[in-house]
Amino acid sequence: MRVEIVAVGTELLLGQIADTNSQWLAERLAAHGISSHFHQHVGDNHERIVLAFRTALARSDALIVCGGLGPTQDDITREALSAVMNQPLERDDDVVEEIRRMFSARNREMPENNLRQADAPRGATRIAPTRGTAPGLICALGQKVIYALPGVPYELSEMFERAVLPDLEERQRQRGHRGVIASRVLKTWGTSESALAEALSGRFEALTGGGEVTIAFLASGIEGIKVRLTARGDDLAQVEERLRGEEGRVRELITERFGDIIFAVDNQTMEDVVADALASRGWSLAVAESLTGGLIASRLVNVAGASNWFRGGVVSYASSVKFDLLGVDVGPVVSASAAQQMASGVRALLGATCAISVTGVAGPKEQDGHRPGTVFVGLDVAGSVDHTTLHLPGDRPRVRAYSAISALDFLRRALARTP
Ligand code: ATP
Ligand code: MG
Repeated sequence: MRVEIVAVGTELLLGQIADTNSQWLAERLAAHGISSHFHQHVGDNHERIVLAFRTALARSDALIVCGGLGPTQDDITREALSAVMNQPLERDDDVVEEIRRMFSARNREMPENNLRQADAPRGATRIAPTRGTAPGLICALGQKVIYALPGVPYELSEMFERAVLPDLEERQRQRGHRGVIASRVLKTWGTSESALAEALSGRFEALTGGGEVTIAFLASGIEGIKVRLTARGDDLAQVEERLRGEEGRVRELITERFGDIIFAVDNQTMEDVVADALASRGWSLAVAESLTGGLIASRLVNVAGASNWFRGGVVSYASSVKFDLLGVDVGPVVSASAAQQMASGVRALLGATCAISVTGVAGPKEQDGHRPGTVFVGLDVAGSVDHTTLHLPGDRPRVRAYSAISALDFLRRALARTP
């Protein structure tokens, strides 16, 4: 089965929104071993949408269309489907009633336009909406099929999992196709993409052409470099085994060369890992932030249940706050000793087991004789203090973001060394 994704919406062509739907769908398809060779973007124009559908039908077995199922005049996916299927649009009374009911349940007047969402080409199957008002559509055309889903990501993802994926898999089975694909992502912090690629060049060469496992590098900017392993196999157990084996080899090579730079796997974030390390020890954390201005605290509270281990933070931006509140010695505040004193100060002030701090130069101007990007991270783990100096690249927002993740990584490594 070759599946093509067609994202409908003029705002995509104008660059007003990013097409996260296609990205999400592509990832889900790949995870189920379904390949997609083409993606299209098309505006809200009848002729061009019809052309996009016909082009896709000529070279792919299934189409997933997203967007243009809403109630407004520019939502014309239904009309384009009707043209391509050569079937008239018909209004379904049950769907009309359902839409009316949804509006009255929310105590709102239903605009007449909303009834357009009850239209579907004759012969199409509706996918009932559970998160919005627009039904999705499954339109069979001979051996081929078009799935139409709403553009709102929250609605699209639910319909895809519930109705599209099972239907696609059934079609794959009917064609006698077997096989699954799965990936594992190792997230690293602290080295460059080229250095990683060099360290893994042996694996890279061993794996290319083989087809069972592939390796790829993804630079994700302020979240580090990811190494993605993708394995193919007949079933999930086989794929898992291949992934496990390769992950072991790759981990060994990376650790040998760079030390403990793999901080997380798959969707885990740096703050998730720090949270686990603290929670499993029953420890708590406080932060003192200067140039990050609360970024670190904000990342920490991304984690559900942060109140179990996060005490809080002090945004000690003014020098006098560092002196008066955190007990930093009066003097230069962009320094290793100031960072360390900030950490110890906030740990005592907030009664935490551990604390981290950052002080530095976000830019664009120099401060205390230090260039922009010079950042000192302080650490206090149960009374034992440490610090590190960073020289970060980029403009002010990047320096601040890098500082936040670097400080969390410094803590992560310290915790990993502490029994
Ligand atoms: P609605 O019923 O809400 O009108 P729709 O099916 O008509 O949905 P659109 O009008 O095309 O879909 O898009 C609705 C919203 O969904 C857009 O404003 C945008 O925020 C989001 N959206 C649409 N297409 C995409 C896409 N490809 N990727 C990410 N978000 C999208
Ligand atoms: Mg719309």
